[in-house]
Amino acid sequence: MKWESVFYRGRTCWFCPAIVAGHRFSSVWEQVCRRCQGRMKRITPPSCWRCGRAMGHGEICGECKRRSKNRTFVRNRSVTQYQGWAKHIIRMYKFQGKREWATPLGEMMAELLWEHQKLIDLITYVPLSPARWEMRGYNQAELLAQVIARRLRVPMVSTLRRLHSEQVQSSRSRYARLQGSGHLYSLYSGRVQDKLKQKRIVIVDDVYTTGATLHACAQTIAACDPKKMESVTFAR
Ligand SMILES: [Zn+2]
Ligand SMILES: [Zn+2]
Repeated sequence: MKWESVFYRGRTCWFCPAIVAGHRFSSVWEQVCRRCQGRMKRITPPSCWRCGRAMGHGEICGECKRRSKNRTFVRNRSVTQYQGWAKHIIRMYKFQGKREWATPLGEMMAELLWEHQKLIDLITYVPLSPARWEMRGYNQAELLAQVIARRLRVPMVSTLRRLHSEQVQSSRSRYARLQGSGHLYSLYSGRVQDKLKQKRIVIVDDVYTTGATLHACAQTIAACDPKKMESVTFAR
């Protein structure tokens, strides 16, 4: 399979009114103006092998070294550093109703995956709590996962759901002694389990901050015996 050129609507930059040349693009970045590109700090190698943090040297960052022992393995990659313009873009996308930006952000994430990892069986995403969903009207991670899945031609599967805080409380009391932590996520349904077994899975989220969310999701998926788990986020 090869990476195909795509048409996008209009000839203006995705994130500002600047005009960009051309009408057929092999990369979504060609439709982001120089100024906007310059304001984003794209993460390029070398970055932390595990969490995708931008680093000037080394293979695994100090934070990952400290945490590696007690976490389900997930390798993360992110498009850009979470600061400046990228922060603004995420804010607009999540809180100001710019949901159409799922297309450029998802395309950038798909390109990043395409560069590094072509063997993917399915794409899934970090779920939103029902209350948040109600407030926002969409799950920003799910929209990104849809764009990525379409672009890479792999299925997108809803695998997880976010428990209510009361549910978390009760699961804590039930499992606390066994697991040592609360369960924020559970499988979307019983049928999901078979879909995940021995699959190479990519978990999608918009931002990677401490990695706690993605690792909690990975822990839940790990119970289904996947072959491999990785994650991708727009910012980190
Ligand atoms: Zn621009
Ligand atoms: Zn790291």
